Amino acid sequence: MAQNAVSYLSSAAQEPLRRAFEFSKRAHAEQLRAGGDPFVTHPLAVAKILSELHLDAVTLQAGLLHDVIEDTQVTREELKAEFGDEVAAIVEGVTKIDRLEQMVADRAITEQAENWRKMLIATAKDVRVILLKLADRRHNMETLGALPEQKRRRISEETLNLYVPLAQRLGMYGLKHDLADLSLKYLEPQVYAELESKMSANREQREVHLKTSVDKIESVLKPLNIPIHISARPKSIHSVYRKMLRQNKPFEEIQDLSGVRILTDTVEHCYAILSAVHSNFKPVPDSFTDYIAIPKNNLYQSLHTTVEMAPGDIVEVQIRTEEMHSIAEYGVAAHWRYKLTGPTSTQGKRDTVEAKMDWLKATLEWLEESSDPKEVLDGLKTELEFDQVFVFTPKGEVKKLPAGSTPVDFAFDVHTDLGFSCMGAKVNDKMVRLDYKLVSGDRCEIQTRKGQHPHKDWLDFVRTPRARSKIRKYFRENPA
Ligand code: MN
Repeated sequence: MAQNAVSYLSSAAQEPLRRAFEFSKRAHAEQLRAGGDPFVTHPLAVAKILSELHLDAVTLQAGLLHDVIEDTQVTREELKAEFGDEVAAIVEGVTKIDRLEQMVADRAITEQAENWRKMLIATAKDVRVILLKLADRRHNMETLGALPEQKRRRISEETLNLYVPLAQRLGMYGLKHDLADLSLKYLEPQVYAELESKMSANREQREVHLKTSVDKIESVLKPLNIPIHISARPKSIHSVYRKMLRQNKPFEEIQDLSGVRILTDTVEHCYAILSAVHSNFKPVPDSFTDYIAIPKNNLYQSLHTTVEMAPGDIVEVQIRTEEMHSIAEYGVAAHWRYKLTGPTSTQGKRDTVEAKMDWLKATLEWLEESSDPKEVLDGLKTELEFDQVFVFTPKGEVKKLPAGSTPVDFAFDVHTDLGFSCMGAKVNDKMVRLDYKLVSGDRCEIQTRKGQHPHKDWLDFVRTPRARSKIRKYFRENPA
């Protein structure tokens, strides 16, 4: 990569990359990877993953140099003098995370959460540290076979518990699927091998089937006369496995092993496509989700539906714009992609980036407020779950909460003070208990009283990390 350079970067940016590669090669000199390859193959592979995300030249240089402080005599000062402060700061951030990882390597998962928190806080200054760490982990997972069994398991568990949710939360689905598949491969080698062979056994048949589905959909969309790009979308091994576990079914009974993705230019056209698909093929009841009107927390947007193309022939369909697709693939990394495109960036794209940054800030805020590492980890897991409910405020604003949230969670989500002074709640104009489980479409109104304060038993039913940490904080500051 460093030799043939990176096509999306200006030629002025190529020279520093070449220098970083040479520097890294010299610094790691005789070192070898566990598999016997020269060490520099690792930072090179990491930089290549970062280049696939179209990250800026600074991040790629940091990728090439990311292990020199940790594994060689090179100091931060030398890196700064040679490559500038930004590169040095990112490499230092990654080095800190590596050291924390080693410190907690043999301890229980609850203690790893502490590491996790520090890691996130460290990156508040620069998300590129996290992106680099994810790329580093992805290459380490690819080459994990060279390590002893026990280490393979520990690293795979850590990947599954910490890095997969993080990649998902940052909206980086490409990396997420790679990391999850690789973890499964080492944690459940038999399951993985079996699924891999079963999926490749009927691959040809599936491909023919998908091709037919794509053709059928293409022909019903043709009259719309709008820009459309349809592609078949094979499912990853881990997502098929999760489906088997969730539905408690053997591989043979899992229906939609692959799906179809339709990309177009505008939101309007997405809905036009949806309507054409639904009027030509029977939708499977309850399968439709509109993530365009109501995006996921990680800003993912798309229409999802499942249709029966012919009796028993079930196909999952995703419909979105090219821009939504790019955000789905690259997540937070899209920020630096857009930076590169410069003045062509639209306001919409900037808003997206700001929303991402808001998410990061909010996450860091509650991480700092909670002192119990177990709580942090549970909280992260909650934050990362797919299941959400959408609840209206009396003014008609939509609040997005994890499934199982209560009026107390809702109150804290609206405002901390509303949470603290909450004494009762009405849902759809009827009084409910404070531990009532909100469902999508509920309109929730909080009743307050001056001088009201949180109750300890709220901790038994609140669902969101935000409410939990605010209540805990209150009792720490106001011990009975
Ligand atoms: Mn590394």
